Amino acid sequence: MRITFFGPPGSGKGTQADRISSCFDLQHISTGMLFREEIESGSELGNRIREIVESGNLVSDEIANEEVFSRIESIDEFLLDGYPRNLSQAKCLDEFLLNTGRPLSGAVSIHIPDEEVIRRLTGRLVCACSNGNGSKNSALSKEGDICPICGQPFVKRSDDILQVMKNRLDHYYNLTRHLETYYENRILKIDGSGTIDQVFERIRKELLAWV
Ligand code: AMP
Repeated sequence: MRITFFGPPGSGKGTQADRISSCFDLQHISTGMLFREEIESGSELGNRIREIVESGNLVSDEIANEEVFSRIESIDEFLLDGYPRNLSQAKCLDEFLLNTGRPLSGAVSIHIPDEEVIRRLTGRLVCACSNGNGSKNSALSKEGDICPICGQPFVKRSDDILQVMKNRLDHYYNLTRHLETYYENRILKIDGSGTIDQVFERIRKELLAWV
């Protein structure tokens, strides 16, 4: 199976992508995570990406495509998390995959209301072992507390700031959400409300029909 996951920031996309890829034995490729690693490396490219990510804008299609293509070139089954983010990336991905005779099975789109996005993101804490997703070990913790698993402090993600969130939501509604139309007959729309386990079960059950 080759699938992509998208949804507004805070929809639980990263957490679900992580669980679904383990469950179906898919390689999990998250562009957000790759960009955060590039930023951490302190490279020149990382510094350019930092500015873009921290303002809530999108990294260029050229960089995003290159990051993904170099990784999926030799992998047969994968889950793309946060890519494609717009129509141009979606078309490039389809072209790339069709050229190697491995079409995308479909896309999973997670829906949650904006108020819930803001509520989740303003309270989100990440740590070294959470890969930029809200840490599941952070319940009842505050910024600066230590994660019992990785021993590193819980911090806010630098792009979880109200104005930046607004930009990210705008990008989602103006660009990413339209991918539902592009993926027309290979789209799975999932209600992202409820517990992590409930959402996971919803996705898992539907995906069983795709394997
Ligand atoms: P995410 O972890 O998916 O929320 O992504 C974090 C940030 O990385 C986004 O707000 C964008 O700035 C950047 N990003 C992630 N994926 C892409 C992509 N496919 N195209 C452009 N920018 C991206």
